[in-house]
Amino acid sequence: MLIGVDFDGVIAEGTNQKILWAKENLGINLDPMETSKDTSLPKFNKIRYTAPDGSVLTGEAIYVYMMSQIAGTSRTLGYQLLPYCKEALSILMSEGHRICVVTSRGKYGTDSGWGRKFLRVNNIPHDNYHRMKQDDKKDFLLKYGFDVMIDDSYNKLAPLSGTGIISLLFTTPWNASVKIDKPDIIRVKDWKDTLNVIEGIAGKRGEMKKKVA
Ligand SMILES: [Mg+2]
Repeated sequence: MLIGVDFDGVIAEGTNQKILWAKENLGINLDPMETSKDTSLPKFNKIRYTAPDGSVLTGEAIYVYMMSQIAGTSRTLGYQLLPYCKEALSILMSEGHRICVVTSRGKYGTDSGWGRKFLRVNNIPHDNYHRMKQDDKKDFLLKYGFDVMIDDSYNKLAPLSGTGIISLLFTTPWNASVKIDKPDIIRVKDWKDTLNVIEGIAGKRGEMKKKVA
């Protein structure tokens, strides 16, 4: 099967870098739970931050700027690799699946491939890396015939429902309470669970092929 894997929150986790950046540049302490776009807003809405180019930012604009300074710089190399990610990807590739990392990191403009560098430095098994400039991954996934997409953003997976692509919502502290109301979106709790679920899907598809034959 052709499997799409999101980068941020699924392969690598940047909470530590966001906390560090906020401390150094905004002088505030972010709690780990306050590091997603939505959960950072209560604090960022109260701040006016003057960026190096003189523009004054507040709220979501601070989040977007922070991400450009993290996703678009060598700070990405300080991200934490998710447990068992490497092992699971290696097993999936040995079973004949193809792995394409599909990330929206390109929307931060300044990202010149630090995600790709992270994969290389950490020897993460994968066939391809695709960096898109927008949040919408659906057209790309459909165009290339992806079978499965693993993402930690329910908003990015919801549009895939009904397309035939099976979505795995990779659980993070920020999406743990999100209710899934679509039958083809499956919550996975970590990489061991992800591996099990994909092997189960591949097994069922193999059986179906045998029956047809
Ligand atoms: Mg993500």
